Amino acid sequence: MRQRGARQRFQSCCIQKPGRKVAFSSRKCHLSLNYRGHVNSGTALAFFLFPAVLAIGIQSTLLPAQAQPQSVLGYADFSAQARLEEKFLAVPDAKLAGEELKALTAVPHLAATPEDHNTAEYVAQKFRDAGLETTIVPYRVLLNWPKVVRVEAYDEAGQLLMSGPTREHVQGDPAAGDPRVVMPFNGSSASGDVTGEVVYANYGRLQDFNELAAQHIDLHGKIVICRYGANFRGVKVYLAEQRGAIGVLLYSDPKDDGYDKGDVWPNGPWRPETAVQRGSVQFLFKYPGDPETPGVASTLDLPDSARIQNITGPEGDQPGIISIPLSYHDASPILQSLKGPGVPEDWQGALPFHYHLGPGGVKVHLISDQDDQRRIIWDVIGKIPGAQDPDSWVIVGNHRDAWVYGAVDPSSGTASMLEAVRGVGVLLRQGWRPKRTIVFCSWDAEEQGLIGSTEWAEQQGRALDQAVAYFNVDVGVSGPNFSASAVPSLKDFLRGVARSVPSPLGGTVFDRWRVSQSGGDKENASNAPPIAGEEVHLGDLGSGSDYTAFLEHAGVPATDVESSGPYGVYHSAFDDFAWYIQNADPHFLYLQQMARILGLEALRMADADVLPYNYVAYARDISAYIQAAKSKASENGLSSLDFGPAESAAARFMAAAERDYALQVAPSGNLARLNLALRHTETALLNDAGLPNRPWYRHTIFAPGEFTGYSAVVIPGVNEAIDAGNAALAAQQLEALAKALDRAANALDAAR
Ligand SMILES: [Zn+2]
Repeated sequence: MRQRGARQRFQSCCIQKPGRKVAFSSRKCHLSLNYRGHVNSGTALAFFLFPAVLAIGIQSTLLPAQAQPQSVLGYADFSAQARLEEKFLAVPDAKLAGEELKALTAVPHLAATPEDHNTAEYVAQKFRDAGLETTIVPYRVLLNWPKVVRVEAYDEAGQLLMSGPTREHVQGDPAAGDPRVVMPFNGSSASGDVTGEVVYANYGRLQDFNELAAQHIDLHGKIVICRYGANFRGVKVYLAEQRGAIGVLLYSDPKDDGYDKGDVWPNGPWRPETAVQRGSVQFLFKYPGDPETPGVASTLDLPDSARIQNITGPEGDQPGIISIPLSYHDASPILQSLKGPGVPEDWQGALPFHYHLGPGGVKVHLISDQDDQRRIIWDVIGKIPGAQDPDSWVIVGNHRDAWVYGAVDPSSGTASMLEAVRGVGVLLRQGWRPKRTIVFCSWDAEEQGLIGSTEWAEQQGRALDQAVAYFNVDVGVSGPNFSASAVPSLKDFLRGVARSVPSPLGGTVFDRWRVSQSGGDKENASNAPPIAGEEVHLGDLGSGSDYTAFLEHAGVPATDVESSGPYGVYHSAFDDFAWYIQNADPHFLYLQQMARILGLEALRMADADVLPYNYVAYARDISAYIQAAKSKASENGLSSLDFGPAESAAARFMAAAERDYALQVAPSGNLARLNLALRHTETALLNDAGLPNRPWYRHTIFAPGEFTGYSAVVIPGVNEAIDAGNAALAAQQLEALAKALDRAANALDAAR
């Protein structure tokens, strides 16, 4: 899944020509150059400029001749770990990663198909080859597959304007004509047969629907057409349904990821005319996973009585109306014929005519016949038991199922993870054992709603209270720009990992990350305050990928990493191997880089003497969230809300975090108590009652927004109540927040 809104960043980047991008010290090709660099948390670190090599024509990113010990938070003495990491970093191989990618993307592998099962067996064998204790874990979950999807448009005289969807085709692309390519459809779409007038709702955001209401455009009985981008597609359908619409068409406008951005596939990376973005329209912000089993694992023996009945009702997460995705080829005749008022200026897309809001001028007839069945899916779980603390798990996860071939989404992540697994396997054969247990996970049915990861997390239950981290990768590589999101306690940790991994462009991943952000290029939205001296910015975790159940339901600290570029074929048949090698990463150097990042995250977390969380950073971010909410409340006429208890609790949390941090930077003695306290702190931020109207989401600091779906709303209970102008609910949620922060401060204090 996982695509945030329309991306501005690529308009000015020369992504595919790494040698041109920056004047860089590439004249020092093949010479290792030591230098002293950044100061992090008071610790001077030694760095390397790795051999600065340009991507063209090389097979692998080279490592420095020798690594030097660094001082790293969590380690009393990092020198042994530095040697271990050096051995690991030498293993992931670009060429082998490319072969993995080619094998994984050979055929379409939609969740629950035989081809998907084959990829599970393939990944399981790779896990076993590396020495992991491997199991394939099945779940029985509700999935819709399309039997009939039909869209017809008629003008006012009843003349047929279009009949589709048109089959996705591009001259010369191997995907054209493959009968195994599933017809474009939306996961979780209802079945039905409806005819109605059309209204254009721009991106289908709350403010877009409010604008239509302000223009007195009634949506009852109408079919809403929205462009993709800006929010999660399920939110568009949710808002349209609430306003009485009987169907939704979701299309890809060329302004957002098509010809307005640049050359389209096969001449460039952007979306061609017939390419369709498939995707789930589940109400992800209520709960992810199997629609029938929120909070419960859909094991094969789960009785039907344990499944909820009305999944389209208030308790469920499924829309009650049809939605169908369209290419701009098929959307164009509908939009062109639409009458009514002209659109506001920023609602205009890139099709070559002026857009109108409707209704009038065109009627559409939608048929959606979905085969809803409980189907078997397969997670692959590979464990390396910890030698000292086997109940503490470091979890690395990536989904494996794809809408079609899934070269970028998700197989680039899977190929990277397999190379990380191979690297860890080499260490195992040399006799190394991690202190904590490492668990590698290949999730299924992520695309239909984060299902495999959610069911597995729900099945683990309280065992996840001891999971020390969940490291996610999904859309692993679509280009060279590294970015990340993380819970605030792990932002410094991830910066440290990025400092230890070489970039194909020379220097470290961290160096390139900083360069790519220096032009104001902040890929991942964050509510954290800017900090003087902070060199790279990490986003907040919302939803749209498999970290969701771990962080927001189970309270496991999480990160999510990505290396991105211009990527216009998301969820279409053309996200395939041919597209990947032409546009994303021709020599698979960024797969190698991502393998090193993932592997180092796991190794460094699994072997740390003290868990390397920075709760001082967390407390600072939370205080900023509270101040921002307070300002918003007074702007919204809720100035009588009492933020005092939450502010006091945040101050107590900060003081406790500072005391613990002093212990973390100089670890000594029996550290079990400190580690337990540090781990319990994140769990303490959960509220068992959950968020208002969505009890599955229990984290008091992070959740996907009800009206965004992908991007995070911070202190969500408080902020969404303020947005709704509900003073009583805001007061109640402020109290829940203050209690959570008090619990977290107490958890930290238990370290001493
Ligand atoms: Zn994905």
